[in-house]
Amino acid sequence: MRAILNFEHRCNLTCDWCYVPFIRNKPDFAVTIRVLTCLVEYGIRHITIGGGDPTMYYEWRALVKAAKNSGLFVHLDTNGIGLRCSEIDKATLRSYVDLLGIPIDGPNSSIHGLVRGQPKHFEIAINRIRWLREIGVTIKINTIVTKMNVSVLQETAELVRLLSPSIWSVYEYWPLAAGGANRAKWNDPRGSLAAAISVLPQYLGEIRVEKNLCHVRRLTYPIVAHDGEVYVHSASDIDEFQSLGSIFDSDVLQRAFALCTGDRAEARKRYDQ
Ligand code: SF4
Repeated sequence: MRAILNFEHRCNLTCDWCYVPFIRNKPDFAVTIRVLTCLVEYGIRHITIGGGDPTMYYEWRALVKAAKNSGLFVHLDTNGIGLRCSEIDKATLRSYVDLLGIPIDGPNSSIHGLVRGQPKHFEIAINRIRWLREIGVTIKINTIVTKMNVSVLQETAELVRLLSPSIWSVYEYWPLAAGGANRAKWNDPRGSLAAAISVLPQYLGEIRVEKNLCHVRRLTYPIVAHDGEVYVHSASDIDEFQSLGSIFDSDVLQRAFALCTGDRAEARKRYDQ
């Protein structure tokens, strides 16, 4: 069983297609550790800690340590801005993080910057990836495919090949949450995004290519916010979330996992790296 634990207070980037609902108060890490405990006691085996950027908070280090020491496979998703490339972050990542996801959305700073709303972020991401490789962290490069960057997907693949992560995760744009309001800018309703992803190879050399189409990701995992709210993709409308209540209420996780019955074999392979 896998769950996402998201920090949903704010982010240090402002991608206007973003599907994270930033509607919550600043994290109280004592609460977030209780959230993690609930997930562990329920029996999850794999956790993705995402955001926002979890590494915005000093406490991300204690959180990944607690998750790893609870026996979980720990996948940390970050845009890289909060990573310090310091000895303490090196030790934390090497000891407690099994897989680190970081975005590259184009072959150069102008395309990547267009997607991320910040041209300087390209250089930050490239530098972080090089540092992560040097220190031996297993890397997953995440690419969101939208109307703005689909035409350069092959060039992006060439850059990914040079950066040499273990996995290249390619995501179809999904008009969810606030980012859904901008779907005309990012989506191609004629299906060209899914089509471009589908024809990618299974491997780029040694790099496994993970193709993440919206309908395949739907209802495969519950999402738990840092304050404990649990939600899933709606069963009735693929472009909506459905809240199930607080993780601290009885049977909420049970209902969440009963809804998340979709099988996603490609994502399960992440745990075999
Ligand atoms: S897509 Fe990621 S980096 Fe961009 S605003 Fe959303 S959480 Fe932040």
